[in-house]
Amino acid sequence: MGWNTLDDIDLKNKRVLTRVDINVPVEDGQVTDATRIERIAPTIADIRAKGGSPVLLAHFGRPKGQYVPEMSLKPLVPALEDAFGCSVVFVERPSRDFIDAQASDAVIMVENTRFSSMEEANDPQMAQFLATLGDVFCNDAFSAAHRAHASTTGVAHLLPNCAGRLMQAELQALEAALSAPKRPVGAVVGGAKVSTKLDLLENLVKKIDVLVIGGGMANTFLAAQGADLGASLQEADLHSTARDIMAAAADAGCTVILPVDGRVAREFAAHAAHEVVTLNADTSLEADQMVLDAGDASAAQIAQTFGTLKTLIWNGPLGAFEIPPFDTATVAAARAAADLTNSGDLVTVAGGGDTVAALNQAGVAESFTYISTAGGAFLEWMEGKELPGVAALMQ
Ligand code: AMP
Repeated sequence: MGWNTLDDIDLKNKRVLTRVDINVPVEDGQVTDATRIERIAPTIADIRAKGGSPVLLAHFGRPKGQYVPEMSLKPLVPALEDAFGCSVVFVERPSRDFIDAQASDAVIMVENTRFSSMEEANDPQMAQFLATLGDVFCNDAFSAAHRAHASTTGVAHLLPNCAGRLMQAELQALEAALSAPKRPVGAVVGGAKVSTKLDLLENLVKKIDVLVIGGGMANTFLAAQGADLGASLQEADLHSTARDIMAAAADAGCTVILPVDGRVAREFAAHAAHEVVTLNADTSLEADQMVLDAGDASAAQIAQTFGTLKTLIWNGPLGAFEIPPFDTATVAAARAAADLTNSGDLVTVAGGGDTVAALNQAGVAESFTYISTAGGAFLEWMEGKELPGVAALMQ
């Protein structure tokens, strides 16, 4: 693995500086979805069980180096206490003396790291100051690992370090999906635009066996082959890029699956009148027609393809899943993947952007092997980029 876990470092009587992601939605001072806080609770519990005292570091929102009262972490303390089942000491201006004055199993929450401009600048002075607050550094914020900041990488180099349980789970799932997957390995890449997923597509075609392209992106690929898709979402300036990706896939032995049919409507609205039409290079839609979802034959083909795989990576929906019935293909394919996961035949790892919402809507979130809640960091990993926060944990 190359990195330590909480089991590899002696935490007894240690102040464990723990970087977490608790960017939870808050309305009128109340946390409306505590998922992110709940996901770090096992790390907090394990540190305390091993005799350590967690000193939590986190950013909240984008205060850009200024003190912004609405972005204080203090209002989150009751939600942290609920999730951890113990009291949490909040400190606005931490010092080692203050920390040493707390009980040896105290959970201490430090104010928003981004209130200092030195955080995002990865200023060595801030890293050195943070390092005085702990004896060991634990990074449990995979979702912030694509940023080289003082609290994610700077401080990691100054203390004995390890991954927290959530980071450990993310890294193990991502390594199982892309670094050393059980083959054949496939990916679903859907969503609106090719332009935001170019690096992802270019990296995946080199590493996987089957690429299923869906959503508005698939329109661009079909149009690049000559289809006239009317008013469908597509990027006309990326036709040659789409053809390059097809060629790179062919060179690398990666089979690309494009929709063979689509659910087509004349307005972008829930329950719009629609029909299923065949899609190929010769398709010619009327000027006001839009492909808003893959059709039933495509969904069946995708499900059948999943049956040939051992590992599946999923990023992005197969259609405009927010407006029914244009969620039909996404839901059908997600359920097929979930069934194969439940029967032990497929490892399914999903993440990035709208993927979590789409899979939740399909009701399969519990069945997938792993769903990453880290948007940008998940994508950068799948793009093959080194994540500075992970690299800093490497031995
Ligand atoms: P992304 O953020 O790139 O993963 O794209 C997700 C968005 O793409 C969702 O809001 C979907 O509604 C949208 N989308 C997917 N397929 C289509 C399509 N065929 N036409 C219009 N929007 C789509």
